[in-house]
Amino acid sequence: MTIKAGIVGYGNLGQGVEYLINSLDDFELFGIFSRRETLDTDADVYPVEDAAKYKDDIDVMFLCVGSATDIPDQATGFAEHFTTVDTYDNHSKVAEHRAAMHKVAQANDNVAVVSTGWDPGLFSMNRVLGLSLFPEPVQNTFWGKGLSQGHSDAVRQVQGVKRGVQYTIPAQDAIDQARAGNGQGLSKTQAHDRIVYIVADAADHDRIREEIVSMPAYFEPYDTTVHFISEEEFERDHQGAPHGGHVITTGNLQGHNASVEFSLDLESNPNFTAAAMVAFGRAAARLKAQGQSGAFTVLEVPPYLLSPQSLDDLLKSEI
Ligand code: NDP
Repeated sequence: MTIKAGIVGYGNLGQGVEYLINSLDDFELFGIFSRRETLDTDADVYPVEDAAKYKDDIDVMFLCVGSATDIPDQATGFAEHFTTVDTYDNHSKVAEHRAAMHKVAQANDNVAVVSTGWDPGLFSMNRVLGLSLFPEPVQNTFWGKGLSQGHSDAVRQVQGVKRGVQYTIPAQDAIDQARAGNGQGLSKTQAHDRIVYIVADAADHDRIREEIVSMPAYFEPYDTTVHFISEEEFERDHQGAPHGGHVITTGNLQGHNASVEFSLDLESNPNFTAAAMVAFGRAAARLKAQGQSGAFTVLEVPPYLLSPQSLDDLLKSEI
């Protein structure tokens, strides 16, 4: 089965998805839907408002737009016409997003795989796995050191912000405590700091800082430091997008300690997020081909559907 793919939004994630679709044998790119008229790509580009015209040409639509406002505003509109996959990353609203997508996708006989990527996404799967193994599991997640796409996207939505990035820094002594089984009670906020670098007019600095540090869910619960820097410093020091982290779960089994860890060390966060998204896009197309409809989080997708190999081949390869 060749999966015909569309991409909505051509930022870092959209470009990563395009590269993968062009590299994988089981995908074929139909085109890219953008709010911009011209993009630097060899692919066919269509105005995003025309997308529904092509509903019969596309098996899976990759929603590569921002989580802060684009996904809440636009995702259900796409679920009406397409099987979709997204990387919506506002953890506290994933259930709400799933419910909204489920209603529309089910009513239109489509599949929507929501909040893929690595966190939420692969980290969510590994959290559930770790917590399922022990009678009294202790679990901690550490992020970074890295640039957070979701949080950077959120700061760029604040009025007056010309350029902005956010880095998450984990505390090594907290990681060591978690690995040793002493992570109980270690809060996310104790184990990390958030550091934000912003380019903006001086007159806006105080208001921007206040809006960022008080932003619910994204920054308000953390120790957040906002630095204002020049355009030149931003260009020189803040162009990469590294990220990664650890999900560490420990437990005790009849007096024996066990530690389970899933780690990511990523030179490019969006390229890797795209890789996870494309695997779940493959699963979305297969769920649809199986006659399923409605929304699925990563927890509800059987892992074999992520693989380009069939279940039979996977089992024969003694995986
Ligand atoms: P970008 O800011 O690069 O792109 C977001 C949108 O902005 C694009 O879809 C594009 O829409 C528009 N855009 C991009 N570049 C330009 C430009 N030069 N000029 C004008 N508009 C532009 O975000 P990312 O692609 O890096 O990330 C998308 C989302 O992915 C994030 O909001 C984040 O929430 C999520 N994410 C999730 C992760 C996870 O693990 N779950 C991890 C990483 C990210 P258009 O083409 O229509 O103009």
